[in-house]
Amino acid sequence: MKNETLAAQGLGWVDEATRAISPPLHASSTYLRDVDNGYRSGRAYIRADNPAFDQPEALLNALEGGAGAALFASGMAAAVTAFLSLGSGDHVIAPKTMYWGLRGWLAEWSADVDLVDMSDPGAVRRALRPNTRLVWAETPANPTWDIADLAALAEIAHRAGARLAVDSTCATPVLTQPIALGADLVMHSATKYLNGHSDLIAGALVTARDDDYWQRILGNRAHMGAVLGSFEAWLLLRGMRTLFPRVRIACANAMALAERLSANPNVAQVLYPGLKGFKGHDIAVRQMKGGFGGMLSIRVKGGEQAAIGAAARVKIWKRATSLGGVESLIEHRASVEGPDTPCPPDLLRLSAGIEDVDDLVADLEQALG
Ligand code: PLP
Repeated sequence: MKNETLAAQGLGWVDEATRAISPPLHASSTYLRDVDNGYRSGRAYIRADNPAFDQPEALLNALEGGAGAALFASGMAAAVTAFLSLGSGDHVIAPKTMYWGLRGWLAEWSADVDLVDMSDPGAVRRALRPNTRLVWAETPANPTWDIADLAALAEIAHRAGARLAVDSTCATPVLTQPIALGADLVMHSATKYLNGHSDLIAGALVTARDDDYWQRILGNRAHMGAVLGSFEAWLLLRGMRTLFPRVRIACANAMALAERLSANPNVAQVLYPGLKGFKGHDIAVRQMKGGFGGMLSIRVKGGEQAAIGAAARVKIWKRATSLGGVESLIEHRASVEGPDTPCPPDLLRLSAGIEDVDDLVADLEQALG
């Protein structure tokens, strides 16, 4: 079956006990022990063994072509667990341009981390050290949508004895499957496109191999309790069933917005991997299948105050952080990220939703005007 079919049917699983098409909501925190003291069900306690994870994890694993998937309490919980599961003394290479919350945590973390331009494989090669064990990429990367060449990065990392992990939140498994390009670990803020309705927080990791590193990740998830709630897991599966049509409409809307806004006299620059003149466009054509994502940014003529002013005038777009929901969001990113941000002050980040694109364009045109 095609991934579209697997997603729409949630893998086609049917609850054995009730024949329900939609899964039951498992809320139990504990499981009955057998009279001989065993746990033949394979489940003892919710922190490590929640059956509410089985179906969404299996679906995500299938969509990513992985050897195992694990849900987490948030995207940050998933990412931080991947870093904390490295060995002590391991060196990490991560992008200068990436989700700011994770960049902030990496800056505070006691381990050895170098931030490089991840769209330049040469910069990654130069940053390698004998103890480099993880290269972390994000593509397209927040908030300028720089493209990292995953196949090239996988080769560089593997030659040096390191793993490649990819924050694929904005690409989604609809557009890019990092494992097929050589990545060892895929991370998602499932809060975004996987769920798609701005009504839960969740994260996920998918591994290319069930090895010691993956087992440490699973152990750390259970020990730190970085686990998702049952209801959130249930909602996430419901959201994932419409992942493909949502992402495709968001991609089409983002492409139309990028083209129309490129012609707007009050826009200095449109940042979108689908535009021919965009720096990473050629790699994106090769690496992203069927679209360039629902995220774009515009740089507003007149600088920071002009950008904040335009965001203040929208009527249909919602001024809010986050991304990947069915509703379109606009955000002045530099004021969210604070004084150390590499984000230009005149940049507005746009998360294209699935509304009528003419409504979205008209609203932005009046706001920019
Ligand atoms: N990665 C990316 C690309 C994100 O946009 C976000 C959140 O905005 C995260 C990771 C963190 O995810 P969460 O908010 O689910 O912890």
